Amino acid sequence: MIPLSTKSQAIPVWRQVQKNNFNRIELLLDFLEMAPDKREKILLRPNFALNIPFRLAAKMEKNSLNDPIFKQFVPLKEESDTSFGVLEPLEDQNFRKSQKLLKKYRGRALMLATGACAMNCRFCFRQNFPYETEEKSFQQELALIAMDPTISEIILSGGDPLSLSDGSLASLFQALDEIPHLRRIRFHTRFPIGIPERIDDSFLAILSSSSKQVIFIIHCNHPKELDEEVAGALKKIQKLGIPVLNQSVLLKGVNDDERTLLSLCESLVNAGILPYYLHLHDPVRGTGHFDVPEERGLDLIRFLQENLSGYGVPHLVREEPGKPSKTFKI
Ligand SMILES: *Cc1c(COP(=O)(O)O)cnc(C)c1O
Ligand code: SF4
Repeated sequence: MIPLSTKSQAIPVWRQVQKNNFNRIELLLDFLEMAPDKREKILLRPNFALNIPFRLAAKMEKNSLNDPIFKQFVPLKEESDTSFGVLEPLEDQNFRKSQKLLKKYRGRALMLATGACAMNCRFCFRQNFPYETEEKSFQQELALIAMDPTISEIILSGGDPLSLSDGSLASLFQALDEIPHLRRIRFHTRFPIGIPERIDDSFLAILSSSSKQVIFIIHCNHPKELDEEVAGALKKIQKLGIPVLNQSVLLKGVNDDERTLLSLCESLVNAGILPYYLHLHDPVRGTGHFDVPEERGLDLIRFLQENLSGYGVPHLVREEPGKPSKTFKI
């Protein structure tokens, strides 16, 4: 008998690590040794599924509702308060050029590479976005980019583009490489914060293969998320001549205080990662408990300016649908 395939495709380590994500709230609460009175506060059947990499759960303080990582990933009963916000605050549907391409701003377009993420953040502005999950190819998007010479940068976003297999990423990179007017490929990813194993030799080889300038923007909100293993993985990317920047969301009870933000920015610059944006939280339904007033955001940025090198201070921005760029508050 002849075997159908003689090639045994090894499952990459990061996929195996991802299988240990917590997806069941009861299991997570047991792991966190949560006391019964605190369990009362937790929403057991959220609309947006629980999804937490094991290493993030392992960083959470046991039996606490106040841990900054816990707050970002575990659904509280406040989520069922629908008086705050709307389902899709950014009106991204209006900017959809095809299933997976958003063109909102001059010069750059954003590819919704996948709907999947390494982790589900409770405050996510795209948690209600109707992703196209049937069509796996990027044929239509590549054609649109090739036809529009004003696009010099493509942003791979999602979801999280690092959820794609290296096979898909490699062929996407190859196709993008063939578009002469495209000069830069930008990643928007939170993956390395939860599963730094994703930055493996195979992925690094794809990054190196491109003739375009690659730019890497991670999403980290609290210094606890950034540890030596995460910084080490990102260092490998920096060594390829790829700048690594960070965007954060300003979140009540997570990072809306001077000490935390200063420590976050210092940890980032110590790892060679430049703070890019501090986003004012988008008003997504059920996320009112994360909201921080703009005035408070401005005060926090002024504090950072007084305590950090200029390059260590992020721009405070808000996404306002219909504007030609994000709105810079300071
Ligand atoms: C945020 C965003 C961008 C990128 O904006 P920058 O200010 O360049 O970081 C591009 N396209 C869309 C649809 C966006 O939401
Ligand atoms: S990683 Fe980004 S896209 Fe995914 S859930 Fe979190 S905020 Fe949303």
